[in-house]
Amino acid sequence: MLDADFFRRWLTTAAAAVDREADRLTELDSPIGDADHGSNLRRGFAAVTAAVEKEAPDTPGAVLMLAGRQLISTVGGASGPLYGTLLRRTGKALGDAAQVAETEFAQALRAGVDAVATLGGSAPGDKTMLDALLPGVDALSTSFAAACEAARQGALATVPLQARKGRASYLGERSVGHQDPGATSSALLFEALADTAA
Ligand code: ADP
Ligand code: MG
Ligand code: MG
Repeated sequence: MLDADFFRRWLTTAAAAVDREADRLTELDSPIGDADHGSNLRRGFAAVTAAVEKEAPDTPGAVLMLAGRQLISTVGGASGPLYGTLLRRTGKALGDAAQVAETEFAQALRAGVDAVATLGGSAPGDKTMLDALLPGVDALSTSFAAACEAARQGALATVPLQARKGRASYLGERSVGHQDPGATSSALLFEALADTAA
C-alpha cells in the first residue's frame, strides 16, 4: 500500500531529478522550443516541495492535488497546466483514502494521463510528454521499474517524430531529429517513482 509519505517522497525525488537535469531539459527545448523547460520545471517542483513540506497533507490524493495546484500557479508555459492537470486529476481519482493499492494508483494515473491528452488535444505520436506518459502508465501494471524503462524508451522514440502539438509543431519537419523535452521530463517522473518504490 502507498501512503501520503510515499507520494511526498516521490515528489521530493522528482524535484531533485528535475533540478539535476534542468540544464539538459532546457537544452532539449532550445532547438525545438524556447529553451525554458528546465527552468520552468525547476521553479515548479521547488514550489511543490516547499508546499508539500509546509502543508503536510495527510492523504495521497491531497498530496497530489496540492502539488498539481503549485505547478499550475508557478510554471509558465504549456507544461505547467499539463503537469498540474496530471497530478490534480490523479489525486482527485484517489479520493480521500489514507492508503492506496498500487493498482488503484495505476488506475488514477491513467485518468491523469487521459486528462493531459484532453487538455492538450494531443495523441500518441504527436511528439509530446504523452509519448512517455502513456507507455509509462501502461507498464505500471507490471512494476514501477518497468514503467520507468517504458517511459524512457517512449521519450527516446520521440526523436524521429515530427511535432504536431506545442511550440515544436511550428517548426514542421525541422522538429524531426530532436528528443521532446516534455517526454524527457515525464520519463524523469517515472524514474523518480521507481527510485521511491525501490
Ligand atoms: P512552453 O512550450 O510553453 O515553453 P515548456 O517548454 O515548459 O512549455 O514545455 C514544453 C513541452 O510541453 C513539450 O516538450 C511537450 O512535451 C509539452 N507540450 C506542449 N504542448 C503540448 C500539448 N498540446 N499536449 C501535450 N504536451 C504538450
Ligand atoms: Mg519551452
Ligand atoms: Mg516557454
